[in-house]
Amino acid sequence: MNNEKKPTIPEIMKHRMTLSFEVFPPKQDKPLDPLMEVLDKLYTVEPDFISCTYGAGGTNVGRHMEICKSIAESGKTIPISHFTCIGSHREDIKKQMDTCLSLGINHILVLRGDIPEGWEGTRGDFQHASELIGFLREEYGDKFVLSMAAAPEKHIEAATFAEDIAHLKMKQDSGADFITTQLCYDVQGFERWLDKIRKAGIYIPVDVGIMPVLNKNSVIKMCLGTNGCSIPQPLAEMISKHYNDDPEDFRKAGIEYTVKMVYEYMALGVQGLHFYSLNKADAVLEICKDCGLIYRK
Ligand code: FAD
Repeated sequence: MNNEKKPTIPEIMKHRMTLSFEVFPPKQDKPLDPLMEVLDKLYTVEPDFISCTYGAGGTNVGRHMEICKSIAESGKTIPISHFTCIGSHREDIKKQMDTCLSLGINHILVLRGDIPEGWEGTRGDFQHASELIGFLREEYGDKFVLSMAAAPEKHIEAATFAEDIAHLKMKQDSGADFITTQLCYDVQGFERWLDKIRKAGIYIPVDVGIMPVLNKNSVIKMCLGTNGCSIPQPLAEMISKHYNDDPEDFRKAGIEYTVKMVYEYMALGVQGLHFYSLNKADAVLEICKDCGLIYRK
């Protein structure tokens, strides 16, 4: 697929809300086939893009490139490669970015990355995503569309919302084109955050990260494990009501909850819905169908 002739994601967002999915690469010793089957299912709903995570210092380093290459070659949608500052140095970053361009990958989600346990800082040339965004703009001009991360409930390391939002503004000012958010089950809190960032002069489109509610332990772990995200009262109530359900009944109730939440996000006029697929197509596709997001073009 030649992405350069097609509209970029921020260009599409000027006209309508985008629909997209996130996948993650399997570990190095695992086959790619199951993920390819997931991608084939996700293509059926014509997403605007599919992003692939970058395993900073993990067991799947480098595999994101294989996945993004395969998405680009499919011609079905735009691939977005995540890329982090963890252990990344200027010359190697340039090599990887040149490879991306040669493979038709021109959308990057630029991140600092999660600092591996026991590390001080990123052990790379850049300590924050804003610095890496600035570097890519300086080196590549407008060849890349750059997305940046944001945490609507405040990044866990930031002391205050004001401080975190000032850092988000730095990422925009360094050249980011749109925001992809962390999961956020607190839609009212999200609305307050959106108002705050707009007042702070952050005007680029916001793509909301939607983590489907499918399993109670995963929700609790994802919110409280490392992200510092809240479980709002209606979600707490839903989990309690279905706490002892068998997994399939909980999943049904969770999908219903997620659909309602997605409608609330749509009512806020967000520019995109980005579903964390967790490499399982069926649940996210069911949610998209129930939200009327399929055949929407
Ligand atoms: P930054 O923007 O650098 O911010 C990190 C912290 O530093 C914040 O508290 C911020 O307020 C503060 N800060 C920023 N700039 C400055 C400054 N100049 N001076 C002082 N403090 C500053 N991780 C992965 O490893 N791989 C992935 O593929 C991946 N994908 C993700 C996708 C999405 C949509 C999101 C939301 C997160 C993803 N993450 C991924 C996790 C992400 O790397 C972590 O949330 C990480 O802790 C912060 O990344 P960031 O890009 O927001 O960092």
